[in-house]
Amino acid sequence: MRVELVNTGTELLLGDTVNTNAAWIGQRLAALGIQVARQTIVPDGAVIRVAIAEAAQRSDVVLVSGGLGPTNDDLTRESMAELLSLNLDLDEGVVTQLQEYFAKRGRKMSESNKRQAMVPRGALVLTNHFGTAPGLYFPAELGAELGWNCHFFLLPGPPREMKPMVENEVETRLREWLPDGASRRVLYLKVTGVGESDIVEAVEKELEAVEGLDLGYCIRNADVDVRLAGSQSAVDAGAAIVRGALGDCIVSEDRRIIEEILVELLAQRGEWLATAESCTGGTIASRITDVSGSSRVFGHGWVTYANEAKQQQLGVPADLIETHGAVSEEVARAMAEGALKNSGADHALAVTGVAGPTGGTPEKPVGTVWIALATKGAETWAVKRFSPGARDRFKLLTSQAALEMLRRRLCGIALRR
Ligand code: ATP
Ligand code: MG
Repeated sequence: MRVELVNTGTELLLGDTVNTNAAWIGQRLAALGIQVARQTIVPDGAVIRVAIAEAAQRSDVVLVSGGLGPTNDDLTRESMAELLSLNLDLDEGVVTQLQEYFAKRGRKMSESNKRQAMVPRGALVLTNHFGTAPGLYFPAELGAELGWNCHFFLLPGPPREMKPMVENEVETRLREWLPDGASRRVLYLKVTGVGESDIVEAVEKELEAVEGLDLGYCIRNADVDVRLAGSQSAVDAGAAIVRGALGDCIVSEDRRIIEEILVELLAQRGEWLATAESCTGGTIASRITDVSGSSRVFGHGWVTYANEAKQQQLGVPADLIETHGAVSEEVARAMAEGALKNSGADHALAVTGVAGPTGGTPEKPVGTVWIALATKGAETWAVKRFSPGARDRFKLLTSQAALEMLRRRLCGIALRR
């Protein structure tokens, strides 16, 4: 089933409004296993006609947002009626709803709002519970004379009005039209620590052999979501393949990100985490504290950027830094163990590296980082990672590697070297 979006609004083209409708609808449809085939933005005014006619030629379903308002440049409803040669009738039901809408707010309905109650003959009204412009559904038969075979949904532009309409009116119909209809499942397996191309290499051949399985990969920050859609049995078969090949690296199967998983795991065990960060400047602590409930598992986070801070706050011996350099396995270990001791936590993560763009050397080029994890009653882990690139990317990937190290420890999975 080919689905397209048309978003109207000059403000979208000017960049004054970000097209969040397209992003939101894309995600909602992806959850149904539908990938939006094309998205078009047109300015307010008559050009909407062209966009509608073009989309109708090549799609099964088109969602149009915006241009249902009461002003002169809101032409979506009229353009659609014109293209399909449908008369517009005043819908008394909609008039009543509009009157009630305004009465409730102590306002008088203006004449221009009456336009919003004009319904092209054969179209179905989709009630707008959060604004004035009702949505409209045009069954595909209405375009048969033009040689179209395409369902149209006209939706209001304001997100808070559009969203409930998509959830209540559009998605239910899409589900009916999908080949495996109501039984369709979508599963996201969140994989970390493995690049997209390696994931593809590990699983794609086998997954493509599963009948009726739709497959997608989506890079989200530092992880890759492997999206499996289809019947329950196809998704189950696909999930078994991904778990078999990448099981160790699967963080979640419900879209939760690693910091959410860690806070939950630590809370279940009644354990505490501390952090000692140099080059990530508090990113690990920030990510942990983004999670609601983190105060039950996180009490201490140091940003020890200068060598003196590493010595004073974490007790890293000066001669260790002198001998091995601040970016070294020895210093990372000493930072983690110092943070563990000074915080009284059960686990302490430490990072020290060269974020760049300056400060690299032939032995320790920009992007080099040492990450250590100290845990009460266990050996300290340390790994070297290399993530050259912009500073924000370096911080993200380094914090991800550190969090992944802790996940492995908590889950009893061996450390990846
Ligand atoms: P109105 O009665 O407000 O005119 P409408 O259905 O004609 O409703 P638009 O005029 O297209 O809708 O948009 C109204 C407002 O909704 C815009 O000012 C904008 O803030 C927001 N909006 C419209 N389209 C989008 C979009 N694609 N993404 C995010 N916001 C949008
Ligand atoms: Mg408008």
